[in-house]
Amino acid sequence: MNKNGRLFVISAPSGAGKTTLCEQLIKRVPGVVQSVSVTTREKRPGEKEGKDYFFVSAGVFKNRLKNNEFIEYAKVFDNYYGTPRKFVESNLNKNKDVVLTIDVQGAMQIRKNLKKGCVFIFILPPSFKHLRARLQKRKTDSNMQINQRLRAAKKELTFLKYYDYEVINDDMKTAFKQLMAIVIASRCKRY
Ligand code: 5GP
Repeated sequence: MNKNGRLFVISAPSGAGKTTLCEQLIKRVPGVVQSVSVTTREKRPGEKEGKDYFFVSAGVFKNRLKNNEFIEYAKVFDNYYGTPRKFVESNLNKNKDVVLTIDVQGAMQIRKNLKKGCVFIFILPPSFKHLRARLQKRKTDSNMQINQRLRAAKKELTFLKYYDYEVINDDMKTAFKQLMAIVIASRCKRY
């Protein structure tokens, strides 16, 4: 793969604020685009096809996987998620920086297969207590799902050591400044 732009792989436990931070990044830093993943998960209220995800059936997902259409994929909370290869490769070739917001399993696949030119960033909540409060406030998950997400978050944190940067999202403005600084500095880094 000819990597001209940088691939920013961003992972975070659900509720750590990565969606807002990444939206800000795309809006405010020119030359950065975000990949939209393909998923078999049900659409949540307010989510838009092609903006939040491309929602497909398990059969369609399997076919695309077989056709090597994903640069990585993972099963998260009983659903499949994959990053479309075409979008990522064409944008990197156009010298754009591409942001992937994916789970740790997917990040580890990218690390193994195309580490060069990739920057791995982990966004953390200030504490698990904060994380639970944010998930409760979001009102998209049941208590059982919140507990499941918190357990998953603890497990995901064990992968922190494989990431280049950690950003603690206590104050959104500060976290955004840090994220932007990482992106801009990474553009100057020699690989
Ligand atoms: P959610 O269903 O809450 O939107 O996402 C659940 C988890 O799946 C999050 O950690 C999110 O980052 C991750 N995820 C979303 N898209 C992808 C993808 O294409 N690949 C991988 N590996 N994980 C993804």
